[in-house]
Amino acid sequence: MIILSPEWTAVAYLVAAVCFILALKGLSSPKSARRGNLLGAAGALLAVVTLFLSMHLENLLLILAAILVGTVIAVPIARRVQMTQMPQLVAGFNGVGGGAAALVGILELGHAEETWVRIAIVFTMLIGAVSFSGSAVTVLKLQELITTRPITFPGLPVLMVLAVLAAIAGSVFVVLTGDLLWAVGLLGIGLIAGVLLVLPVGGADVPIVISLLNAFTGLAVAASGIVLGNVLLLVAGTLVGASGTILTMAMASAMGRSVAGIMFGAFKGGSTAGSTEVSDRPVRSSGPEDVAVELGYAQRVVIVPGYGLAVAQGQHTIVELATALEERGVKVVFGIHPVAGRMPGHMNVLLAEANAPYESLRELEEVNPEFSQTDVVLVVGANDVVNPAAKTTKGSPIYGMPILEVSDAAQVVFLKRSMRPGFAGIENELLFDPKTTLLFGDAKDSLSKVLAAVKAL
Ligand code: NDP
Repeated sequence: MIILSPEWTAVAYLVAAVCFILALKGLSSPKSARRGNLLGAAGALLAVVTLFLSMHLENLLLILAAILVGTVIAVPIARRVQMTQMPQLVAGFNGVGGGAAALVGILELGHAEETWVRIAIVFTMLIGAVSFSGSAVTVLKLQELITTRPITFPGLPVLMVLAVLAAIAGSVFVVLTGDLLWAVGLLGIGLIAGVLLVLPVGGADVPIVISLLNAFTGLAVAASGIVLGNVLLLVAGTLVGASGTILTMAMASAMGRSVAGIMFGAFKGGSTAGSTEVSDRPVRSSGPEDVAVELGYAQRVVIVPGYGLAVAQGQHTIVELATALEERGVKVVFGIHPVAGRMPGHMNVLLAEANAPYESLRELEEVNPEFSQTDVVLVVGANDVVNPAAKTTKGSPIYGMPILEVSDAAQVVFLKRSMRPGFAGIENELLFDPKTTLLFGDAKDSLSKVLAAVKAL
């Protein structure tokens, strides 16, 4: 039954599109991110409800059943997922979106007569398939179901070139003939290309590839909007494509790398991958009481959180420690590196969860000039983002990445469990610096002990 007239449908789609744009705006700051997320979800809900009310849908029961199956699978996964597994979740949902767009493309081919519609269909199918299989490989890598190291073999570049040539030839043929069998073959080529594209990418770079594939899905969905004559799909897909592209570039530049270097660096041996090599050089380690004294009698402290804080789930304790220090008259701020953790905004999300005051969060450019007037920097579960090798060691996987210049401060304290390196797998010279002390142990555990000792001062 059609309830909404085309005019009201257009108005509802316009409202949904505005919701999506405001959602992106909201997501650009931790303060408004929750509101942005809700606005985006409301826009998506409005779009789906509008679709049901504005056209006569065949196979209504099948559609409702598909929605039910999707909900039953997605809701528990989304509820249960750990914050550190968020990139996998995003990749999984994104891949399914790309796959859905590819299927829409192939289903529409049967009644597409015009050449430009067929071009849009071929684009949707290819890019959607690349996104689907590429995202599946990223999930396998991040869940460590396959090796996180770059996978390359001698014939890989040749295979990649062949896949691209086959995709071009197949696309031209499908556009000219509309042949369904060739279209299925093209879908297969897209799936193979997605796997080949992601295999050579090393673990630490995978989140960037996820963001790139996210942009691909956006483009595929935008093209499916053209195929289906649905303006809102076109708008939403374009927004995802544009924001995914911007995010990819921002992450690559925060790591001081080019997107091409990240995607194809492994062929030159340049992609990053975790190493388990452990140094046995001597370091200065201390106990929680000593760290509490250093912090408690300082005037200015900068806390640098990293991936290990997320692993230890120490965000509440770290905020408690900051509050206890503030109560003693110590000025405490958090220095947030844009790629600290394993996903964009990871530390902001983590600290927001523990209600860290927004005004105490400092971005890299803001906090770097402040280190020279800082008494103690407390580095909690961070490593690569403070590693001076990014400035000094040419050829290092993180060379060129802007870092938090914590060595400008008077004292540096690292909270980590061992001498193992960070994700880039390289030693951190700062750990051996005379101004550095290490407190070994799980970050949450160490923070609790330091907190108790600060309170006892
Ligand atoms: P790192 O991976 O460099 O270091 C994490 C540190 O945490 C390690 O030194 C580890 O040492 C320690 N650690 C792990 N678990 C615990 C625990 N339970 N308690 C205490 N310490 C712990 O993290 P950073 O945040 O400094 O850097 C992020 C890395 O990820 C960068 O290389 C970045 O390029 C990369 N990356 C980030 C992305 C993003 O969007 N944020 C995307 C892609 C890549 P130990 O094992 O000894 O405890």
